Amino acid sequence: MRKHGLLFVICGPSGSGKSTLAKRLLSHSLLKTKLARPISYTTRAQRRREVDGKDYFFISPDEFRKILRENKILEHTQNFGYDYGTPRQYIEQALKKRKNLLLCLDIKGAESLINLFGKERVVSIFINPPSLEVAKVRIIRRAPKTEIKEIKRRMNLASYELKEAHRFDYQLVNDNLTETVSKIKEIILCHMSR
Ligand code: ADP
Ligand code: 5GP
Repeated sequence: MRKHGLLFVICGPSGSGKSTLAKRLLSHSLLKTKLARPISYTTRAQRRREVDGKDYFFISPDEFRKILRENKILEHTQNFGYDYGTPRQYIEQALKKRKNLLLCLDIKGAESLINLFGKERVVSIFINPPSLEVAKVRIIRRAPKTEIKEIKRRMNLASYELKEAHRFDYQLVNDNLTETVSKIKEIILCHMSR
């Protein structure tokens, strides 16, 4: 039996489909008993259809600073003026029990996990949108009230992220959702069986 759980990290530009893919993977019949997903903290506003405690823990900047001071965050980042952080206790307890984890993080978060746990325990998967234009359409459709300023910031970060995609273990284009889920499922099962 493997000594440690694995950490599968999904990265990619906003609108590439990370959260949608993660949800599908976690409910997949072959994966749901084998994978757990830590819920990150964020200071950004909750979107319609997002559930507090399920998609994120939505907290205020003051609360974020407090839990950061209390050392409850394993790694954290700032995007578009909002804070995002991974809960330390959840990860440490899950890994102690040799659970495999699935996380959606930005590139900084993926790097932090590799630094903390080593390259051999982190499997990094980069999700490309079919194009930046498609990603933008998806972002607007997902949350039509998103401010233009924030959409611009998300697209700027997306351009940078696409340039870094080559550093990942795997790269996929999320055009057809069912096919992308199936490809990631294969990657995960393959690593779990090694
Ligand atoms: P991310 O987490 O990468 O920002 P989301 O998972 O929130 O992206 O997806 C953005 C929007 O695009 C959502 O409305 C989602 O339903 C939609 N979406 C995700 N994947 C696909 C796909 N393959 N084809 C069409 N729409 C998609
Ligand atoms: P969004 O606002 O679109 O949900 O997330 C913005 C970006 O922050 C995405 O790339 C998402 O994967 C990333 N992110 C979400 N939670 C965390 C986290 O806890 N740590 C890091 N490093 N990135 C996160």
